[in-house]
Amino acid sequence: MNIKHLFDIPKIKVSKIEFEPPAIHIYASLSGSRAKCPECKKYSSSVHDRYQRRITDLPVFQYHSVIIFTVRKFKCRSDSCPRKVFTEQNDNILPYARRTERVTRLLSDIAIDMPTGSGHLLSEKLQIKVSRSTLTRLAHQQALPDINTLKIVGVDDWAFRKGVNYGTILVDMETSKPMICYLPEIVRI
Ligand SMILES: [Zn+2]
Repeated sequence: MNIKHLFDIPKIKVSKIEFEPPAIHIYASLSGSRAKCPECKKYSSSVHDRYQRRITDLPVFQYHSVIIFTVRKFKCRSDSCPRKVFTEQNDNILPYARRTERVTRLLSDIAIDMPTGSGHLLSEKLQIKVSRSTLTRLAHQQALPDINTLKIVGVDDWAFRKGVNYGTILVDMETSKPMICYLPEIVRI
């Protein structure tokens, strides 16, 4: 088996993998020679430009992994289309995202299941670089469940700025999903 076969993101091909401790760099791009214009929905194979993005992926053999992702811009060849140039896209690597969807899902689970400090420590041990504030934001973004189903409730507090700015989250311990998140107000002591 080639290690490239382990890189399981649909429609993305890996051109090379470089081991540069403490990171593994995976050079990748979208497969296929053409892309669909988001405006007129017609395909184009006319490449206008290329650029690279750095995207954090799940760790490999406990090493931090970064996808060096080459993105192509295409010219739209439809005369009636107002979009002259568009960027190819993939559902698993969203525009402007700094990490893959599968990393975001893992971090969201950590953010819900653990207090922010412990979650941040675990993320570091997993070789996934993420700030405490990002973990907190991911916890806030979780969908809230039906409040009638709650049986066991967990409470977590955190300080955005110690002694000044605090937040509180209530979590359904059976599903590990948040039910109420109290965004911080200025607390004067
Ligand atoms: Zn178009």
